[in-house]
Amino acid sequence: MGYMILTISTTYRPATDLGYLLRKNPDRHQTFDVFGATAHVFYPVATDERCTVALLLEVDPIDLVRRRGQRHAGIVNQYVNDRPYGANSLLSVALGKVFSSARTGKSLDRPELAASIMPLEVTIAALPSDGGAELICQLFEPLGYIVEVTSELLDSAFPQWGESRYHRVDLSITAQLSDVLTHLTVLIPSLDGSKHYWVGDDEVDKLLHRGGDWLSTHPLKDLIMRRYLMDQRALTREALRRLSGEDYSDPDERTRQGDSAEASLERPMSLNEQRMQAIVKTLHEVGAKTVADLGCGEGKLLELLIADSHFTKIIGMDVSLHALERSKKRLYYESMAQRQQERIQLIHGSLTYRDKRLSGWDAATVIEVIEHLDPDRLIAFCDSIFGHAQPSCVIITTPNADYNEVFTSLNKGELRHPDHRFEWSRHEFAEWAQQISSHYKYRVQFRPVGDEHLELGSPTQMAVFSR
Ligand code: SAH
Repeated sequence: MGYMILTISTTYRPATDLGYLLRKNPDRHQTFDVFGATAHVFYPVATDERCTVALLLEVDPIDLVRRRGQRHAGIVNQYVNDRPYGANSLLSVALGKVFSSARTGKSLDRPELAASIMPLEVTIAALPSDGGAELICQLFEPLGYIVEVTSELLDSAFPQWGESRYHRVDLSITAQLSDVLTHLTVLIPSLDGSKHYWVGDDEVDKLLHRGGDWLSTHPLKDLIMRRYLMDQRALTREALRRLSGEDYSDPDERTRQGDSAEASLERPMSLNEQRMQAIVKTLHEVGAKTVADLGCGEGKLLELLIADSHFTKIIGMDVSLHALERSKKRLYYESMAQRQQERIQLIHGSLTYRDKRLSGWDAATVIEVIEHLDPDRLIAFCDSIFGHAQPSCVIITTPNADYNEVFTSLNKGELRHPDHRFEWSRHEFAEWAQQISSHYKYRVQFRPVGDEHLELGSPTQMAVFSR
């Protein structure tokens, strides 16, 4: 078991009003279940002169890990909702949950008390900060806190090892309790940049809701948002934009950004664009004029193909009707000139079934799709494409699992997207592709896509099959 303890004290008179604001009776010890941890709330001191509430979090590390494991189950909803929490995030979540009514700063029967400012002291016994004591001060001081941080050496026998990541933090301020609770719930997880927990669109809302007033003027606003949103840059950008009051009304764009953990991971290097460019270039090299993009998704490649008059006939196929709808929108299909419309066709179908419509094309592209297929359907996929449709050229891309180490926000063994059924190392992909090549009599060539790492290779791997 691990423990984290946070106390809040006041000398407001009568000090026991703290219990009233927190809706937790000073005479009782209460417990709450917070994502597998047990939160205890009790009052070590409760007099008219001074009142201290303690939040003691008892964390079962095994349970935390078990919950983390569930993320691989696959369904997006589960992935988004079942977040594994790092210690700091957990403390913040517990604070938010246990004292949720106090955080809103509203009280029906004693509104004047909820709006009162009062002297408050917060003590956190062991708070991990990967920016050391300095970051703790930088986060809290601009909000008016007096901050005292006590850091211990990691091991007093080895001073050269430096300080522990854990700090005792004493904060004091005269403010509304609701503001202090809000600051804590946002800033505590921001201190611990190394802990990964999934953030989705709702996290942006939560952050803006909690931090809207004070966050927009905080000198470390960017860092707080980035860390709170765990380096999910697309989300951070969105949050910053909304905070700065710019209109942000494209719901489609929002879904796209919030939806895809993979896209956020890969966005910093705009891997997707590099991938699309590499494919178009290869299609030119092999002289393909008619192209079938299989598993076309929302039509990012189709958009480039239609804009390039070299390609005379294009087909986009996907098993998801929703994806096809998005493709249509992206291409402005409905308002396309007739001549353009005749160049492109969007069809509903599955790659794992033989399909006559796929015969007779110069090239087929299967971009970031195979990892979405169950491994036992891969044989059917090969039969349908290489055995039946038989285009002159097939381009397949898939993530390079070796490269995942570079994504610091991915846990070991974790996949880039919740719907991926597997991610292959370069060796595994090469082996699979060689088998296809000899069985179906195609030549195969491998190409890296994206910025290459000396040892781990490129983020995306591409195989180009030709006959
Ligand atoms: N090629 C696109 C989309 C990749 S996402 C891009 O690179 O942007 C994977 C896509 O494969 C999804 O749109 C999904 O609906 C589609 N897909 C998954 N299984 C499929 C199948 N059996 N047949 C056709 N498409 C499939």
